[in-house]
Amino acid sequence: MDTAASPTVTRFAPSPTGHLHLGHAHSALFGWHAAREVGGHFLLRIEDIDPQRCRREYERDLIDDLSWLGLTWDGPVRRQSDHPADHRAALDRLAGLGVIYPCFCSRKDIAAEIARAGHAPHGPDGPLYPGTCRGLDPAERVARLAADVPHALRLDVASAMAIAGPLRWHDRAHGWQDATPGILGDVVLARKDTPTSYHLAVTVDDHIQGVTLVTRGEDLFFATHLHRLLQALLGLRVPEWHHHRLLTNDRGERLSKRDRAIGLRDLRAAGYEPAAVRSLAGFPDGRKGSDLVVQGKVIK
Ligand code: GLU
Repeated sequence: MDTAASPTVTRFAPSPTGHLHLGHAHSALFGWHAAREVGGHFLLRIEDIDPQRCRREYERDLIDDLSWLGLTWDGPVRRQSDHPADHRAALDRLAGLGVIYPCFCSRKDIAAEIARAGHAPHGPDGPLYPGTCRGLDPAERVARLAADVPHALRLDVASAMAIAGPLRWHDRAHGWQDATPGILGDVVLARKDTPTSYHLAVTVDDHIQGVTLVTRGEDLFFATHLHRLLQALLGLRVPEWHHHRLLTNDRGERLSKRDRAIGLRDLRAAGYEPAAVRSLAGFPDGRKGSDLVVQGKVIK
C-alpha cells in the first residue's frame, strides 16, 4: 500500500479521434489497476490538441464508455486544449535554452531532401527529419519569420542532449533504459495550427497532474526516450513508466479503430455486460494489473 505522502498516480490519456476499442479498454484498465491495487489515484486526460482530428462527441462518448466499463477516476478530467498557456510556457523555456528552431519545410520538401541525399537515417517511426532548417542562414531565418512563412518548431536534439547530459529512465516491464532520444531525430514540438505537440503536451501535463507512473502501450516506448530529455530540459519530476503489451486481433495485428467488431460501442450494442468486456480486454474480474493472460495462462 502506498503511503499518503507518495501515492501512485497513473492516468489514461486517450485522444478523442474515434470511438474506443478493446485495446483502449486494456490500457485504461491497466492504469486503473496499477493505481487502485496500491491505493493510488487514477486520472483521466483528454489529449485533444489536434483540432483537425479530435471531436467533442468522441470525448463525450469515451467518457461514457469508460464509466460503463466500471472505471472511476479522481479529480476533474484534464482536457489538453484548455491549457495552451502551460504548453506555451514550456516551449518558451526550451527556446530560452536555444534548443528549438523554426522549420519551414513542407512534407514534400522533406521527401525531396531525403531523395536528394540518397538515404536518410531511420527511426522507429520512419525516416528522420534531415535537419535542413537547423543549419539555415540566420539572416534567411529572420527574413522568413518576418514574412510570416508558415513553420513548425523543432527540437535540436543534439544540442538538447549536450545540455542535459546522459539520462536514464525506468520501465517496470523492461528495466532501466539509457535514454537515446536521438533515435527520433529533431521532432516537431509545435505547429501553427497545433501550438504544441503530443510529446511536449504529454510531458508537461504528466508533471502538472503529478503522475508518478506512466502506463501506456509499447507503441510509445521509443517516445519515452524523448520525454525523458524534455523532462530534464524543463526541470520536471521524473516518473516511472510501465509500457504494456498491445492487444492484437486474430490475424496478430495491433487492434485499431478500424476493427469495428471490437469497438466498445459495438460490444455494448450487441448486449455485452461490462464484466464480459473487461474480460475480453484482458482483465477478467480478479485479475491483477501486473498479470497478463496469454492463451489462457496468467503470466506475471
Ligand atoms: N494520447 C495518446 C494516444 O491516444 C496516448 C498518450 C500516452 O498515454 O502517453 O495514443
